[in-house]
Amino acid sequence: MAEREMLCGKCGCPLEPRRVDFEYLGHVFFADAPRCPKCGEVYLSEELVRGRVAEVEMELENK
Ligand SMILES: [Zn+2]
Repeated sequence: MAEREMLCGKCGCPLEPRRVDFEYLGHVFFADAPRCPKCGEVYLSEELVRGRVAEVEMELENK
């Protein structure tokens, strides 16, 4: 079965997973997000961001 391919909403290129850095509460962390190789548009879903934020918060609490 083929992987479900995400296409860029701007130019229709298949998105490639890329490491994306972002900042939350002064902490910089990263996640793999689909990114368009052509125009550089990144599709960070709220679900993905929340998942990473929850992980980071747990890591911070454990310190
Ligand atoms: Zn694009």
